[in-house]
Amino acid sequence: MPHLLTPRHSILLRRLSPASFTSRRRNTTRIRHSTPSFPKAKAPKFMVFACSDSRVCPSHVLDFQPGEAFVVRNVANMVPPFDQTKYSGVGAAVEYAVLHLKVEYIVVIGHSACGGIKGLMSFPYDGTTSTDFIEDWVKVCYPARTKVLAAHANSPFPDLCTECEKEAVNVSLGHLLTYPFVRDGLVNKTLGLKGGYYDFVKGSFELWGLEYSLSPSLSV
Ligand SMILES: [Zn+2]
Repeated sequence: MPHLLTPRHSILLRRLSPASFTSRRRNTTRIRHSTPSFPKAKAPKFMVFACSDSRVCPSHVLDFQPGEAFVVRNVANMVPPFDQTKYSGVGAAVEYAVLHLKVEYIVVIGHSACGGIKGLMSFPYDGTTSTDFIEDWVKVCYPARTKVLAAHANSPFPDLCTECEKEAVNVSLGHLLTYPFVRDGLVNKTLGLKGGYYDFVKGSFELWGLEYSLSPSLSV
């Protein structure tokens, strides 16, 4: 997202860079035992979507301090498309983060060995269901499953899941474009979207932007 690389944004990007992820991991123990200072005003720069998985708490992974990140966690860190009846919980969070907190970045973070993505790749989706909610929820990123199966048809299942963990992040970033206030923020260059992937086996963190083209008159 080159248009966002102003000096101010460069500082923010360094905050989320893989290099600073490594150095922050080294410092985590020290920071975790220090007394946190709680900011009086609430002005987080980041909205973060992360998985509910107990191994991937974003405050630990990226060492967010109190006041730095407005976080939504759900199964498989998915952002559904704009839908006022079906997904009002996520919609309310995105609306609040963008219009009231005025976050500068929305970051969707996928992760290795995600059970939700494994479900998305495993469920038959043939009209039968074995869960009350999970199959329908992870179907939010069904286009990721379709794309991965088409591109890597002969790959082993674990590899398909890894590909889908990253591709589902891209689908969620695409869904964010269906929120009018997100599109406005992108057009006005007050908001940026980032995808991330945390591999807790390798201890690595990737960060990428979203290729897109928007104009103020675009309607979805
Ligand atoms: Zn997960």
